[in-house]
Amino acid sequence: SDKSGPPEIRPEEITFEELIGTGSFGKVYKGRCRQKAVAVKLLHKQNYDAATLAAFRKEVHLMSKIYHPNICLFMGACTIPGKCVIVTELVPKGNLETLLHDEKIQLPLYLRMKMARDAALGINWLHESNPVFVHRDVKSSNLLVDENMQVKICDFGLSALKQKHKMLKDQSSAKGTPLYMAPEVMMFKEFNESSDVYSFGIVLWEILTRKEPFSHHRELEKFREAVCVKHERPPVPPECLESLRRLIERCWDKDPLRRPSFKEIISALDHIIVDAAISDVR
Ligand code: ATP
Repeated sequence: SDKSGPPEIRPEEITFEELIGTGSFGKVYKGRCRQKAVAVKLLHKQNYDAATLAAFRKEVHLMSKIYHPNICLFMGACTIPGKCVIVTELVPKGNLETLLHDEKIQLPLYLRMKMARDAALGINWLHESNPVFVHRDVKSSNLLVDENMQVKICDFGLSALKQKHKMLKDQSSAKGTPLYMAPEVMMFKEFNESSDVYSFGIVLWEILTRKEPFSHHRELEKFREAVCVKHERPPVPPECLESLRRLIERCWDKDPLRRPSFKEIISALDHIIVDAAISDVR
């Protein structure tokens, strides 16, 4: 079989159950494959040219070599007429964004900080892999939560396909502001590990406040100017732990070189988790 392609799964091995998510460029279904509960992602192929699809196959191949407890397990891919299909493990509690915004769910600060650390471990693994993976789309809806409240990052490695799609979308509507996008990415399309760190800063704020970042912004142009020129960031509440405030503010620093690495983020969170546990019992 094709050595440059992803592990092949035959279409008839997949059974589709209910729809569990809709992303910006495809639909995600619950399903079964080889006796396992899986998530099946359908990407609409007609939007992409041959070069993009070749890049996609290459990235999918690299994804298939990444194993880490905080990274959603990639199981295989196949194509059915008009569509690319990606099969991953099913992460049962769905995405962190939905969980954070559900007020009925109790999430002590300690647990939320532990979840942030899980995500950081996953992203750190991508940054330390060879070749380096820059995720490019770190956000709370790409963080999945399992039955033990462990967080797994999903949706890495699809960047080639996504950037293309996002450009198409931006032209057709001003919706979908890039809330998690680092200023240098918005301005110059410069992606590297530190742009993931910026996005993680916004996610940390969201995990802390359980609110939607930049919710008062409606227009893309004004939003860009606010973040890139005026260096506006979401307000950190005054009662926030000092150690956590410092970490959040370092992550979203306007200067990419001043942002911490994920190694540093993990060790900062190790301490913050302890502070959070103490503040929870107070
Ligand atoms: P975007 O480009 O906006 O990130 P997308 O098309 O890449 O979207 P995903 O973010 O991968 O789509 O998935 C959309 C939603 O589907 C997720 O937010 C999550 O709720 C659900 N989902 C995706 N993968 C899984 C999985 N493995 N297990 C459980 N739920 C999943």
